[in-house]
Amino acid sequence: STPAAIAAAIANGARRGLLAKGGATLETLAHVRTIAFDKTGTLTRGEPRVTNVTPPGGDDATPTDATAINAALAKAAAVEMGSNHPLGLAIIAEAEARGLTIPRTLDGSAATAGKGVSGRLDSGLVTVGSPRQARESGALPASADARVTQLESDGKTVVVVSEDGVALALIALRDEPRDDAAAGVAELKALGVTPVMLTGDNAHTAAAIGAALGLAVEAELLPGDKLAAIDRLQQAGPVAMVGDGINDAPALAAAAVGVAMGGGTDVALETADAALLRNRIGDVASLIRLARAGMGNIR
Ligand code: ADP
Ligand code: MG
Repeated sequence: STPAAIAAAIANGARRGLLAKGGATLETLAHVRTIAFDKTGTLTRGEPRVTNVTPPGGDDATPTDATAINAALAKAAAVEMGSNHPLGLAIIAEAEARGLTIPRTLDGSAATAGKGVSGRLDSGLVTVGSPRQARESGALPASADARVTQLESDGKTVVVVSEDGVALALIALRDEPRDDAAAGVAELKALGVTPVMLTGDNAHTAAAIGAALGLAVEAELLPGDKLAAIDRLQQAGPVAMVGDGINDAPALAAAAVGVAMGGGTDVALETADAALLRNRIGDVASLIRLARAGMGNIR
């Protein structure tokens, strides 16, 4: 490759919304053999919507006390006012769409990345978080497991609303894959690059989405686990990590090439070596092709 070929590739990419910070980034991208994707906001739109709110033990045959279910949803929304996680925004939107009165007595709330959020309301200490967390804290009875697994195997994310250690409701949410996610993943495979999805979401949901999009998954990863996964994958060669910077900034920084997409938070753009401005998964393959062209078509 020549400096002129590299400069041409960078300029050509910029015209198409494929930004690379420099020649070193292009050179590494040309050699990357694994692409790690964050799920939420990257492979998916990052705009989950509530699909079900059910009693914790609740099979559909159980008569549902709609008042109790709506009260649980309203409490969840109150606690999520203290977070800006996409799941929280969806829960607030659903409570509003149902015309519920969201308690405004939130007295301090704390989010734990990858796990959930807790806050004190007049009625008690309310937690909204993963089923795993709720199981570990003893709030989720074993009788709920089948229902949770059923929803998750449908590709939905389930969170548990509990108060003072007692589960009140399950909330299921669906975050649709981006329109071109499956095609974009297939393009990468055609280039000889192995895609893998890293997510904090549970294994059932991740497996359902991974199967739909055609890539391997590593699930139930806390932010630090994503970093460790990148380090491990990188023992076999340079890895590019594609993420939106929400919960995955350390992994973006650890990857040989961090690629920001998904509307890119400022954090992601600061940590990233490259950015995809059009939020298309197919642009990851375009970036690889651009890098290979700039390096003189090495494969
Ligand atoms: P991802 O890797 O897909 O971006 P996160 O690491 O952000 O996922 O979250 C992982 C899991 O932690 C979620 O699926 C959910 O169960 C739980 N969680 C995290 N934040 C919240 C929140 N604000 N409200 C409810 N659940 C949450
Ligand atoms: Mg994310």
